[in-house]
Amino acid sequence: MATVKKIPQRQCIGCGQMKDKKDLIRILKTQDESIVIDATGRKNGRGAYICANEDCLSKAFKNKGLERSFKMAVDSAVYDELAKELNNIGK
Ligand SMILES: [Zn+2]
Repeated sequence: MATVKKIPQRQCIGCGQMKDKKDLIRILKTQDESIVIDATGRKNGRGAYICANEDCLSKAFKNKGLERSFKMAVDSAVYDELAKELNNIGK
């Protein structure tokens, strides 16, 4: 019998659904406490995951998903910046 490869799953901070890690965008808190999108998924730091769409981003904004994930205050400008990057990824 072939062994089924388990795809790691992560929870979207917006809609709260569990999804395959590869289908989510990784958001990273860097050592200097700035929040960036980690396109490669390989940078060190504390990560949060979100679906690649603006709906989930606005949900995350409303339910303070990033604040809860990173245990810090997150400026709305950060969400604006993430929205821009999500748009670019979607193209
Ligand atoms: Zn989502």
